[in-house]
Amino acid sequence: MHTRLTPAELTEHAARFLGARENTKDAYRAWVVHDLTRLRDGMGILSEAFGTGPLHAIAVKANPVVAILKELVACGAGLECASLEEVELSRAAGCPPERIVFDSPVKTVDELRAALALGIVINVDNFDELERLASILGDRADAPSSIGLRVNPQVGVGRISMTSVAGDTSKFGVPLNGERDRILAAFDRYPWLRGLHVHIGSQGCPLPLLVEGVRRVVDLRETIEERHGEGRVGFVDIGGGLSAVYRETDHYADPRTYAANLRDVCPTLFDGSVQLVTEFGRWLHAGCGFALSRVEYVKQQPGVSYVVQHLGADFLLRPVYRPEDWGHEFMLLDREGRVKEGPKTLVSIAGPLCFDGDFLARNVELALPEPGDWLLIRDVGAYSVSMWSRYCSRGMPPIVGVDGDGVFRTLRAGEAPEDVVAFWTGPATT
Ligand code: PLP
Repeated sequence: MHTRLTPAELTEHAARFLGARENTKDAYRAWVVHDLTRLRDGMGILSEAFGTGPLHAIAVKANPVVAILKELVACGAGLECASLEEVELSRAAGCPPERIVFDSPVKTVDELRAALALGIVINVDNFDELERLASILGDRADAPSSIGLRVNPQVGVGRISMTSVAGDTSKFGVPLNGERDRILAAFDRYPWLRGLHVHIGSQGCPLPLLVEGVRRVVDLRETIEERHGEGRVGFVDIGGGLSAVYRETDHYADPRTYAANLRDVCPTLFDGSVQLVTEFGRWLHAGCGFALSRVEYVKQQPGVSYVVQHLGADFLLRPVYRPEDWGHEFMLLDREGRVKEGPKTLVSIAGPLCFDGDFLARNVELALPEPGDWLLIRDVGAYSVSMWSRYCSRGMPPIVGVDGDGVFRTLRAGEAPEDVVAFWTGPATT
């Protein structure tokens, strides 16, 4: 089971959305739509799978739109933050401090102080950061924050090496094989060190890899508790990493299967003896979002048509630069939002940016495209808006939420040229 919008649901949303005349005005050349009912359903699936005890701290980097973060917080979610700025986004979304998890690998001393002052959860990335914290905390036995240590379980990499972080030499966390004794010594020394954190990778990490990574960390917890007694490790944060479906042919484990496997292999994660934390992002968000981008031109080239439309590497950075790893499915709609039927043709989908590699896809089959059609890009709810690039200085499209009642409301207004001018002018200096 996954949260992906089906073609029938997409067609219904798009027809209703584009049927409203103001949405086809020239100023709005592209839109991003996020289905909030689908998002809440996804949170429900996580709770069903893992039970109600765990804290699901959803990765802000997957989708940082504050209105969307607010929806998550209202569902009881926490938020996982890769930067202090993401911590501020979480606060702006009303997330209680004990549900904010701060994971940046480059925390400065000031950022650590700020995190302690806020009382948010801190996952320490390395021993030097641990020493920084120790010198801030002095000889205190407790800390105003829950503090964990990120461990690299060194279980290997998944299909996509760039987003796999549990290889032998990942830049994240403390390697478990070589540093086991130092990890144990850190727990001997710092009573305020109370948690273990692991994130194995994103998209394309097979389930056995995720489960084995968690198992190694749960084993470590047992060793720590053998030395210090039960309850010494207050939380185990298993990170994110469940894959999202991007193609009809993709088959990935869903949260139920993941949780069932973990219950078998690591039952102590579920027996109430420790707080379980997760940090899913992509699985939850990706399939809730779709984009509509107007076909501006269709250029005939020998053997192929270029569909020139408004979203490219500014929106889908990874699919443009690493098409062998990432890709999306598309639908072609007419001006009113009806799916275009009829004969198919091979097209390459060109973005608007000034380099010749700016293609969302090459040689895909679509109905005959015409200027004024809408390209629907599926599964853009995660790592798309959040990776928006300023190259060529195009304004970010409006982000719209749709609810069960079929009503669309703006979650973030589209950027006008003056907003981009303000961005490049920069914040006021004092
Ligand atoms: N937690 C950490 C530490 C991460 O680095 C990431 C992604 O990079 C996530 C959670 C979210 O991963 P995903 O979106 O694959 O679930």
